[in-house]
Amino acid sequence: MSNSYLDTMPNTDGFFGKFGGAFLPPQLETPFTQIKEAYEQLKNSPKFIEELKYVRKHFQGRPTPITFAKNLTAFCGGAKIYLKREDLNHTGSHKLNHCMAEVILAKHLGKKKVIAETGAGQHGVALATAAAYFGLECEIHMGEVDIKKEHPNVVRMKILGAKVVPATHGLKTLKEAVDSAFESYLKDTDNAIYCIGSVVGPHPFPMMVRDFQSIISLEAKEQFFEHENALPDNVVACVGGGSNAMGIFAHFIEEKEVNLYGVEPMGKGENIGEHSASLTYGSEGIMHGFNSIMLKDDKGEPAPVHSIGSGIDYPSVGPEHAYLNSIQRTQIGHCNDDEAIDAFYKLSQLEGIIPALESAHAIGFAIKLAKTLSQDKTILISLSGRGDKDIDFVVENYPVPNAKF
Ligand SMILES: *Cc1c(COP(=O)(O)O)cnc(C)c1O
Repeated sequence: MSNSYLDTMPNTDGFFGKFGGAFLPPQLETPFTQIKEAYEQLKNSPKFIEELKYVRKHFQGRPTPITFAKNLTAFCGGAKIYLKREDLNHTGSHKLNHCMAEVILAKHLGKKKVIAETGAGQHGVALATAAAYFGLECEIHMGEVDIKKEHPNVVRMKILGAKVVPATHGLKTLKEAVDSAFESYLKDTDNAIYCIGSVVGPHPFPMMVRDFQSIISLEAKEQFFEHENALPDNVVACVGGGSNAMGIFAHFIEEKEVNLYGVEPMGKGENIGEHSASLTYGSEGIMHGFNSIMLKDDKGEPAPVHSIGSGIDYPSVGPEHAYLNSIQRTQIGHCNDDEAIDAFYKLSQLEGIIPALESAHAIGFAIKLAKTLSQDKTILISLSGRGDKDIDFVVENYPVPNAKF
């Protein structure tokens, strides 16, 4: 075993520095130990690695390409902008990268059913897809507000054979969906496994999901060399829980000259409830079984959050992001709702690519960054998903600009 960052972080208890861990109710300790042991075994198993390689190539459509955004680059007039095209991964986002692997793990453990939460519906669709492919039952919990907003993905999950359970308490969005999914899992730990949708939750999920998503940077590093014969100067990704960001950061962490930017959603203002910028405004705390930086209300409870990107409105952040930010290996970028909408239309009209609203936050920040940099610098953006799911919401609320940029 090498001493590389990815092999040594987190430690065996799941800590990245002081962040992470597994803060579990007693009845979940055994199931999580089983998951941890199964993953330790699988990750070194040639059969598992071969199976994952096979589905990635022949089912998911990997590797996804890197596209040079030449018109957006010209528009900004600064650094060259490249896009890692996770929107072209099957089901339209990076989420299938960890879902296929999580369902292989579920099968290995003899489980019959996978349970998960979903925000924008992308994790739900990806998990329902993986469950269909591998022949398992699938139950997805989703906030009622998101069910209305992300209608096409709800229909998709149902068509794929999943059961969609509405979360009806509190703000009825992502956090409530996680609460609801955990409750359901607690009732059926023998038959079911909880497949977390990001680099969050109790150990081993932040590590496992990062490892599964690290395929993004494994591919991107080599592909970027084809384009530029160099490493990118800057890597940019939006951060909800932080899985697409950890995926595109992973193999660049030890390349100290590469700046890594995780972009947080600034929503519509700086007050509690108007944004979901956890690292920017949050403080240390435990939620959903792990210690990280979270947004709290005045009672210390998880704060209400907002972003037009339904997949990134989460009041905490993956523990590895909290750690990498605390040692200043990563930096925080910002993008608010309006900038994300502007970026959504710009990428659509300048490049012919409709981005997911979540990914539009990475684009929005990268546009600002590119303008400050000279033309010999480069930016690699994680285009985490396609925007088909968001088109109705966007055009109803933000009319299509009638002038080209
Ligand atoms: C779910 C999702 C995100 C946010 O999740 P992370 O774990 O932060 O990556 C970002 N973009 C898209 C397209 C998504 O579906």
